[in-house]
Amino acid sequence: MRRFYVNPQSISENLAILSPDESRHIVTVLRLQAGAAIELFDGTGFVYQGIILSTSPGPITVELRSRTNEHHDDARRRLFLFQSLLKGKKMDFLVQKATELGVHSFRPVLSRYSENHGNLPRQADRWQRIMLEACKQCKRASPMIIKPFTPFSDIDVSAFAQPLVLWEKEESTGLDAAMISHEGPLALFIGPEGGFPDNEISALLAMNFKPVSLGARILRAETAALSAIAILQFLTGSLSPVRP
Ligand code: SAH
Repeated sequence: MRRFYVNPQSISENLAILSPDESRHIVTVLRLQAGAAIELFDGTGFVYQGIILSTSPGPITVELRSRTNEHHDDARRRLFLFQSLLKGKKMDFLVQKATELGVHSFRPVLSRYSENHGNLPRQADRWQRIMLEACKQCKRASPMIIKPFTPFSDIDVSAFAQPLVLWEKEESTGLDAAMISHEGPLALFIGPEGGFPDNEISALLAMNFKPVSLGARILRAETAALSAIAILQFLTGSLSPVRP
């Protein structure tokens, strides 16, 4: 059953009013009719099963028939991603893949070698749309939190027992060893296309980051990020077919 986003404030009793974007998608793209059964997720972990009441011009009204609680998205160890800003569409790609793979929060970091000089507020709006679309497509009930752009100097990982940073010069510690040595939420930091200069690596070590390697080959940042996210999410059980 197709799933659409509804703002929790647009739900009252057993009725939900959809946004103009979602209404347009339903009527003009999908051509669904009144009476069609759809699902709505409100971003707080609840999923509603409902029936379209009418498709007349304007926001679509949905009669809600039932509600399920899909908070399990977060039942596993949460993964907090810190990603140095990448050029062009690579960040769009990573926002979409991180959402699909269950990353809890995505923090874009402005590190020294970040070369993305695009319009940051416009990128943030686009990423929010990409994330919600990915939630709809993969049936993720709780959206990924996209944090504000963060200068490297403002990074704070004091809440994490053992934050991890992907570093191509690390020669002994792999991902599995690094993340098993502690419990609690995971923080993973990936550098920009140009990597981390020595002073940034030194600063990360001073912040208790543990460098981890993905092997001897130098991966593109988006390859390293996608691979590490998938490996960590597998190791924490987030890709398990068994619900917690
Ligand atoms: N400085 C490198 C390029 C950096 S690759 C060079 O040009 O030689 C971009 C980012 O991907 C790095 O900052 C790192 O976070 C990650 N990365 C790439 N290959 C990696 C590897 N083999 N192990 C760990 N991290 C890697």
